[in-house]
Amino acid sequence: MHTPVIGILGGGQLGRMTALAAIRMGLRVRFLVPKPAGPAEGLGEVIVGDWKDPDVLRRFAEGCTVVTVESEWAPADVLEPVLPEDTALWPKAETVRIIRDKGRQKRVLAEAGLPLPAFACCATLEEALAAAERFGYPLMLKRYRGSYDGYGNFTARSPEALKTGWEQLAQEDGLLVEAWAPFVRELAVLVARSPSGEEVIYPVVYTKQVDHRCYLVQAPAAIDPAVAEEARRVARAAVEAVGGIGITAVELFELADGRILINELAPRPHNTGHYTIEGCYTSQFENHVRAVLDWPLGSPELREPVAVMVNILGRRSSDRIDLRGLPEALRIPGVAVHLYGKMQVRPGRKMGHVTATGTDPEDVRRRAETAADLIARYL
Ligand code: ATP
Ligand code: MG
Ligand code: MG
Repeated sequence: MHTPVIGILGGGQLGRMTALAAIRMGLRVRFLVPKPAGPAEGLGEVIVGDWKDPDVLRRFAEGCTVVTVESEWAPADVLEPVLPEDTALWPKAETVRIIRDKGRQKRVLAEAGLPLPAFACCATLEEALAAAERFGYPLMLKRYRGSYDGYGNFTARSPEALKTGWEQLAQEDGLLVEAWAPFVRELAVLVARSPSGEEVIYPVVYTKQVDHRCYLVQAPAAIDPAVAEEARRVARAAVEAVGGIGITAVELFELADGRILINELAPRPHNTGHYTIEGCYTSQFENHVRAVLDWPLGSPELREPVAVMVNILGRRSSDRIDLRGLPEALRIPGVAVHLYGKMQVRPGRKMGHVTATGTDPEDVRRRAETAADLIARYL
């Protein structure tokens, strides 16, 4: 067998960690990125170009065994019609298209009978106000496309606020209006599926967002086993509904009565799965690579009873990355530090993460939070 080449559309931290898993298995990696110098640097062939250009995409894909995406904005649909004969594309362009548009994603999941907060795709403010009458307040306004870390979301607590949010966010086709999910916890489940139908499901994790941004993930979530089972059932059915191949991540709400609602899906490795690098026998990145190559999948089981991941978020704006806190953080036992090689820091930007593992959830969490804070205080 020739050495497989994994093509990755994008070169952020998800592409970087996918590449690191591929490299460990002796594979080669090629990235397509909009500008040089970033997390992909030094890990393989980095092609700088416009990923909306079919010629650029075709040249990029030529010689790749498989092309995959590190984000739902990646132009899988532009690549698909010009894909070289010997190159696979996973996930399918159709999966990426469904997930990319929050309105379409919700319609597909609702048609599959899956539990979601009530939603309405509204073209005008009047339609949104009418939907709000039915759903009540508070509610969420969401852009259909292009948002992450909550940047395209607006919480409206009154018709006046809804008008303000509409003016701030509405795109040409309006906005998604979503009923408030009165969750007690946010959970997430990763599913790895290969083209020939093999599937593994990772443990249900608890995910804590601060300012709509993932801050901490604990695996496994300390929840009722029946709720965990329901979360896995819903996640699995959701991934099937969108035809996910590779890793698909499912963000969930747990309600007070134990019901599970789907928040959203991602057709790729996910922030809530970073803990799997040290926490599980096979990381989400390795299983993503194995799945898109249609190779056997590895065990998603935890190696130790508990793993906690904490994101390292930027605290200021600078073109200098100050790693003064790193050696101090490394003094904490049982903590793995990941920094993504980003060239600029911005407030709230994901610069890296730490994962701690062990047996006592309190202790594991304290070690992870302390290490992340030691590094982030200089960033
Ligand atoms: P990312 O892609 O980075 O996960 P995003 O910008 O796509 O984020 P969402 O996942 O839609 O945003 O929402 C971000 C957070 O806002 C959720 O994790 C949750 O904390 C909160 N949220 C979203 N929708 C609702 C809802 N219907 N009810 C209550 N809270 C919500
Ligand atoms: Mg999202
Ligand atoms: Mg989300």
